[in-house]
Amino acid sequence: MKAAIFETPGLDTLKVDNSAEKPKITDHDVLIRVKTVGVNPIDHFAVSGAREVKPLPHIPGAEISGIIEKIGDHVEEDNLKEGDKVVIHPKVFDGTCDLCLDGLDMLCRNGGVIGLVTNGGFAEYIAVPDKNVFKIPHDMGWDLAASLPVTALTPYHALNDASLQVNESLLVFGASGNTGMMAIQFGRKMGAMVIAVSKNSKVKDFGADYIITDYDKVVEQVKDITQGKMADVVLNSVGVQAWQSSFDSVGVNGRLVTFGGLTGADVKLNVQSLYLRQVKLIGSTGGTRKQLKDILGMSNELKIKVWRRFKLEETKEALQALFAKERDGRVLIDVDGS
Ligand SMILES: [Zn+2]
Repeated sequence: MKAAIFETPGLDTLKVDNSAEKPKITDHDVLIRVKTVGVNPIDHFAVSGAREVKPLPHIPGAEISGIIEKIGDHVEEDNLKEGDKVVIHPKVFDGTCDLCLDGLDMLCRNGGVIGLVTNGGFAEYIAVPDKNVFKIPHDMGWDLAASLPVTALTPYHALNDASLQVNESLLVFGASGNTGMMAIQFGRKMGAMVIAVSKNSKVKDFGADYIITDYDKVVEQVKDITQGKMADVVLNSVGVQAWQSSFDSVGVNGRLVTFGGLTGADVKLNVQSLYLRQVKLIGSTGGTRKQLKDILGMSNELKIKVWRRFKLEETKEALQALFAKERDGRVLIDVDGS
């Protein structure tokens, strides 16, 4: 089958050819014909060698949508059948460790990310266990489908981890980024007042109540908007660049949650300022299968912005586009139709 594949890490060694075998399925697996895949930093890390991958040669690709081609003998046909449109929960998990039993399958002690610890979806076909496969509404567009398992799930999980409540204030840094735009929408759905930090005023289209465009004035503007209370929940997925202003914008008993550090991961922390305000610092990653199901239930109301789309043959260009300064929305690869 056609796939983007590399033997040794590095963007230049990535090629697209027919050398990979079409995957075989076991009794509990589902074979999926890949339709559209989202391109995320994790895919770049897989190819560049920043994250370890197996097997080698390796096919990257973590955020996958497609159509069921075939199901294993023990897959419940009432649940999944040939021709269904689906998305893939991107985590390998055993279902038996203490964390899985707690419902935290994305933290499985014996698991990992599809596309890192297994071959991924930058290929015509992928085989995954049926427990990773979620049916999507028939009328859902592929662009949104290919944005649910990572781009939507990550901020949804983060806001849940931060226990965002109705009528609280949520401050979103990196609001015009893909996860940021999703965070705004989820914040509104959860009944919060959303303040977005972005130079791009278009984030208003995603439902932000307030937009702060001057990065140097975030703290004082949050103070104005919240009448001195400061934000109940602050989402900083951009890392060190926004660290100090995100920390200074958290109110008493507030929560600062992060799932990314693209501008740098090493930050300074004043512990006195942390404990005196009783601020909770929360690290968050991925999301649970239950949360992916929650998102599917509200997905007809979600919006996503696509910046550029590529063919499978252009995987390298797609990965490069991810970190383009002018990027404004999602980078997608249309595998089917390449
Ligand atoms: Zn487990």
